[in-house]
Amino acid sequence: MAADHVIAIDGPAASGKSSVARALAKRLGFCYVNSGAMYRAVTWGALHRGIAVQDPDAIAAMAEEVRIACELIDNESRISIDNFDPSPQLHSDEVNRAVSSVSRVARVREIINLQMRRCVASRDVVIEGRDIGSVVFPGTPFKFFLDASPEVRARRRNAQGQRDEIAMRDQADSSRRMAPLVIAPDAERIDTSDLTIPEVVEEILKRLRTKRLSNAAVISHR
Ligand code: C5P
Repeated sequence: MAADHVIAIDGPAASGKSSVARALAKRLGFCYVNSGAMYRAVTWGALHRGIAVQDPDAIAAMAEEVRIACELIDNESRISIDNFDPSPQLHSDEVNRAVSSVSRVARVREIINLQMRRCVASRDVVIEGRDIGSVVFPGTPFKFFLDASPEVRARRRNAQGQRDEIAMRDQADSSRRMAPLVIAPDAERIDTSDLTIPEVVEEILKRLRTKRLSNAAVISHR
């Protein structure tokens, strides 16, 4: 079953996707789905089991073997691996370093996309990621691509106290063969470098209005 309304928010690391997507979902009364957390959870699972993250066959075999599940709890996506919720570990340095190697494995992407589509079936959702508008839900008319200058993005990560080589991750995510980070031709690009989170949310609401998303928050938006 297809999801109902899907708002796709794609973009590189630290472009503001998570904060914007969560706040936007709240405003609209939609569910918030973080697809990056799913790739991070599988990466955590591989590291936890001592699997070499550079070995695509071993990663694919693990992804087949474990139970990767996505559910909506309190209107937000939650991922579990063999019934364990690894949320507190998902932004560790180790996961940051390894996630792009895991996310380029085709079988991992297939399994995550299947679980994600099941999880959001017939729901109104805001989904953030890298390939939501280009690959996972290419038919949605509501696609946004958030970006910001590399300096601003690096500053944001530092402020979060994270060691995250975002330039390396962006390079890996943009150059992989399957579902690379690209701007879907019909996505609206928003540069968030000089905008606050509420300002980006307002900008998206304004554009959703012109796209005629029928939702009270959009209709009442000036
Ligand atoms: O969004 P976040 O930075 O948490 O994503 C972590 C990683 O997950 C990305 O660097 C990318 O390798 C992968 N990812 C992906 N496709 C998505 C979402 C995330 O490949 N839709």
